[in-house]
Amino acid sequence: MTLGPEMATATVTEEVALRDSAHLIHPSAPDFDEVGECSLDHLISKLISGLGEDVSREGLLKTPERVERSLRFLTSGYTSRVEDVLNGALFEAEGSEMVVVKHIEFYSMCEHHMLPFFGHAHIAYIPNKKILGLSKFARVVDVFARRMQVQERMTSQIADALMQALEPEGIAVVTEASHLCMMMRGVEKQGSTTRTSAMRGVFKSDARTRQEFLDALK
Ligand SMILES: [Zn+2]
Repeated sequence: MTLGPEMATATVTEEVALRDSAHLIHPSAPDFDEVGECSLDHLISKLISGLGEDVSREGLLKTPERVERSLRFLTSGYTSRVEDVLNGALFEAEGSEMVVVKHIEFYSMCEHHMLPFFGHAHIAYIPNKKILGLSKFARVVDVFARRMQVQERMTSQIADALMQALEPEGIAVVTEASHLCMMMRGVEKQGSTTRTSAMRGVFKSDARTRQEFLDALK
């Protein structure tokens, strides 16, 4: 499978499409902490006072509720289903050219320290009859990013979910992330990023296809 300028052009178009749909990807972000029942606020109060703070001081009065609502949003992937996210966005199509969607922003939370890790995902696939609306790749990433995670597992879950839904010739997912648990504490390697990848189908079996994708990320 050789892909020349066509792939480069397609990639540029996709990035524009993703930027334009950014407001659609996070429609409820500004007011996520304004609604919903709170049932963990007393635990969060205990946590704050256990850390030596005075939970009754003015600045902290609403903090337990805010923290809970924030955490519920940041872990909303547990209640999102890939099938629902993809609903109506799978299309029948001919062709088997590589599609590359780069720089999909994500924010996740490491399961060891409950601190954020965040960065970008890059996804490529070679269709086999089915193609997916481009903005949906970001939605699928969010389903798995908004959980307590390790980056390696998140990357594999994104690849496996897309493999199952699209039944393509192959899927490749690369994620690059900065981990606050490394940057704020411990080894304090502030400049380091972690890259993980998951290759499925032809991206796993064919070195040349895999290399074309990796070259497209440079
Ligand atoms: Zn961690």
